[in-house]
Amino acid sequence: MFNKDATDNSTYNVDNFEFIKKTSPKVGALIEQEYNRQKNNIELIASENYCSEAVLAACGSCLSWKYAEGYPYVRTSGNTSRYYGGTKFVDELEEYCCDLWRQVFDTDYHVNVQPHSGSQANFAAYKAILNPGDTILSLTLDNGGHLTHGSSVNFSGKLYNMEFYDVDANGFIDMEDVRRKALEIKPKLILTGASAYSRIIDFPKFAEIAKEVGAYFMVDMAHIAGLVAGGAHPSPFGYADIVTTTTHKTLRGPRGGLIFARPELAKKVDSAVFPYAQGGPLEHIIAGKAVCAEEALKPEYKEYAHQVVANCAAFCDEFLKMGYDVVTGGTDNHLFLLDLSKFPFSGKDLQDRLDEVGITLNKNCVPNEKRTPKETSGVRIGTAPMTTRGYKEDDFREVARKIDAVVKEMVAEAEAK
Ligand code: PLP
Repeated sequence: MFNKDATDNSTYNVDNFEFIKKTSPKVGALIEQEYNRQKNNIELIASENYCSEAVLAACGSCLSWKYAEGYPYVRTSGNTSRYYGGTKFVDELEEYCCDLWRQVFDTDYHVNVQPHSGSQANFAAYKAILNPGDTILSLTLDNGGHLTHGSSVNFSGKLYNMEFYDVDANGFIDMEDVRRKALEIKPKLILTGASAYSRIIDFPKFAEIAKEVGAYFMVDMAHIAGLVAGGAHPSPFGYADIVTTTTHKTLRGPRGGLIFARPELAKKVDSAVFPYAQGGPLEHIIAGKAVCAEEALKPEYKEYAHQVVANCAAFCDEFLKMGYDVVTGGTDNHLFLLDLSKFPFSGKDLQDRLDEVGITLNKNCVPNEKRTPKETSGVRIGTAPMTTRGYKEDDFREVARKIDAVVKEMVAEAEAK
């Protein structure tokens, strides 16, 4: 793994591109270029992270060769419900993975570890409890929600009747608006969780509103799951009926998804994943998810999660001190949004310019966005990947000043035009 000075102390062959080049020079060379980009850049994309070499090795293992449609759980017949032979070891692995994730979140919810991604997890979770045309009350993309939370270009916006709650003038989720709309609309599902929201989400309040209107309550904790696992963000377990997540963001595992559900929804969730949404599970990724869960149970992981949050607070504070506008005026988690509305350039312009100097982040809409989603008036900044590489508060403060120097150059150029 790379440390903060971009040296590579790996014991596993993460630089396996030389081996790949023997079969495919083109693919090997592209992986080498990406490896060097990842190693040398300052990585601030809030949805990314560097997983461990053990996770990478599990994902590249012989389990990639195995078909195991169905589930390992022993049902009433006493047999597993797999559609293939030879599943003895992957059955044990998948059960082990499920047990670990229940331990990570200290929950007795049912867990399905097969979703190939966060979007697949959400697709199946909705299917488990809704019919096409049912109403979901959720947060828009502009205000920090995800595509699968009802965007008109996504299956969610096409299959379901989407209604949205708002953020207040400062960018905080407006709980009064959630309640008012819930009472008025009577949704079948109230959804929360976000891709670009920097504040603690009030799960008890959401659950109370859902109960009041007789709706299911679902939390997509894809972004904050690692913080929840490490005790650095309140947990949605016990409040939500269904919890979905990705495993590759703050959780620092392989790319993939998980669905947790109250035990009475277990069968519906399982059949929504397989055979409805997916075919054979990716047992190699399930192995990576199990290794990730073992890592998340270690005391070092708690330290990591708290360091991510402390780093983010310091990083954000440095921008505030330099006079920048931050959506909601701060952060409680692993990310924050710089609002660039007052500058003569877009979020995309800053993203492209920072790319040239080896700082990677992404453009992002801000509340009441005036520009298109391709341009945007903001950028999203996260601390999970560089915290994995050993960055502390002072390192992030220095990065803030580097970004500020680039912004100043761009302002001077715009003024000279
Ligand atoms: N949910 C949230 C809140 C996300 O931020 C994302 C991805 O960024 C997803 C779901 C979808 O995850 P995936 O890219 O694995 O489909």
